[in-house]
Amino acid sequence: VGGRGRAKFFLNGSFEPTAEQLAELASRQIEIEREGVVGVRSEGAALSVLLRDGRAALVDGFFLMPRTRFSAPFAEQLGCALDAGKLGAIYKTDETKQTSVPGVFACGDVAFPAPSVSYAVADGVRAGTAVHQSLVFGSDHS
Ligand SMILES: Cc1cc2nc3c(=O)[nH]c(=O)nc-3n(C[C@H](O)[C@H](O)[C@H](O)COP(=O)(O)OP(=O)(O)OC[C@H]3O[C@@H](n4cnc5c(N)ncnc54)[C@H](O)[C@@H]3O)c2cc1C
Repeated sequence: VGGRGRAKFFLNGSFEPTAEQLAELASRQIEIEREGVVGVRSEGAALSVLLRDGRAALVDGFFLMPRTRFSAPFAEQLGCALDAGKLGAIYKTDETKQTSVPGVFACGDVAFPAPSVSYAVADGVRAGTAVHQSLVFGSDHS
């Protein structure tokens, strides 16, 4: 994000916008930077985005969209099927939050494509209820 309300989109080699997307970005005066980003440095109240070719872009703020990964190997260990989330793989779950492995449930960021506290809490309530039902009635109960 540049100064005085201007914004800059650092693609960093992640994708190439379509002609339609480029036109949309241009209509909002959003500048495109294709050079790779090698670092970010504090410049007092601002930030300097360091580019591979040696240039630096001064910005007031910087929004990142990193890829996510599981912090624990449970999916692999248990053989749970995965779905492609917007930021990385997530557990594939049914409407009760049960994974592809009966009796194994997943909720929150690891099993919901839109990371947010409110979604994670709601997802947890749904999974908790289903876990309770599965313990009482068995995991194939719906
Ligand atoms: C920088 C940042 C800013 C955000 N800002 C917002 C915001 O403003 N508003 C909003 O709604 N959402 C925000 N989010 C998203 C929000 O934080 C998540 O969607 C939410 O915390 C997901 O909750 P969760 O319980 O699924 O996962 P987490 O909050 O990640 O909780 C998972 C917990 O499991 C623990 N854990 C992991 N592995 C193991 C293990 N093997 N054994 C035991 N414990 C383990 C972890 O330590 C962690 O405590 C933000 C996220 C980030 C990263």
